[in-house]
Amino acid sequence: MKNIRGEQVKFINCDLCGADNAVDYLIFEEYKYVRCSNCGLIYQNPQPNIKPLKRRYSKKYFDYELRNQHNFFELMRKSLQDIKFLEKITPQFPLEKRKFLDIGCATGLLLNYVRQYGWQVQGIEIDEYSADYARKNFNLNIINKTLEHSKIKNESFDVIHWSHVIEHLHSPTAGLEKIHKALKKNGYMLLTTPRVDSFQQRLFKQNWRSYHRDHLTIFSRKTLCRMIEKAGFQILRFFSWGGIAIDAGYPRWIKNIADRTVKLLNKGDVMFLLARK
Ligand SMILES: [Zn+2]
Repeated sequence: MKNIRGEQVKFINCDLCGADNAVDYLIFEEYKYVRCSNCGLIYQNPQPNIKPLKRRYSKKYFDYELRNQHNFFELMRKSLQDIKFLEKITPQFPLEKRKFLDIGCATGLLLNYVRQYGWQVQGIEIDEYSADYARKNFNLNIINKTLEHSKIKNESFDVIHWSHVIEHLHSPTAGLEKIHKALKKNGYMLLTTPRVDSFQQRLFKQNWRSYHRDHLTIFSRKTLCRMIEKAGFQILRFFSWGGIAIDAGYPRWIKNIADRTVKLLNKGDVMFLLARK
């Protein structure tokens, strides 16, 4: 079966509870979200196979990543600050033996940053241009594969970070289980993803920035936490941010008030979690 772009697609069951009992949630021209009647998970159904998805990572995608790399890095650095990563988490692991994996590491800015604090770092990146950039500019060790196709040794990392990746996976559950295996005992997982039960989603409805053809699963705080706990993690901290997107056309002062309010009420449309194996 093919979608409107001629990409091969297939139907799947709910990745959180396994049910095959979903109702239409939101229909776009190219793709459709359904909502599981059993657990509430929102996901694309049908979904494109991996090959057409990989083809979406082009030179154009890389140019966008490169143009925004400092903004994206700043957001990630702030989320590390929220959990006191350098002050509280880093010292728990012996210097020079600390191992940090970034899945979806893009141009490598975050890996280059944490390496200064004694972390041995490794990246996984689906986009070959970004992977090359990270290798050449920062001399980083990058696996240019999907998470599904990357070989990671069991219990080999102390910290695994993935930002804006889980929503792209065919099976987020399988991704979480893989990370759980790859972490050492008591290792940490740091995860960022869009959040549907948020102020911005309510404001923009079907025009919300995170309804995107590449986002195969859209989580709420509840569905994400359930899936993470099901994979064997203990959730330690939860934050959210994102009041109004910078390109939504609102004056700066409105954006500032909205951003501060959602952070306070914890209703931002991007959520960040710290969990432990
Ligand atoms: Zn379900």
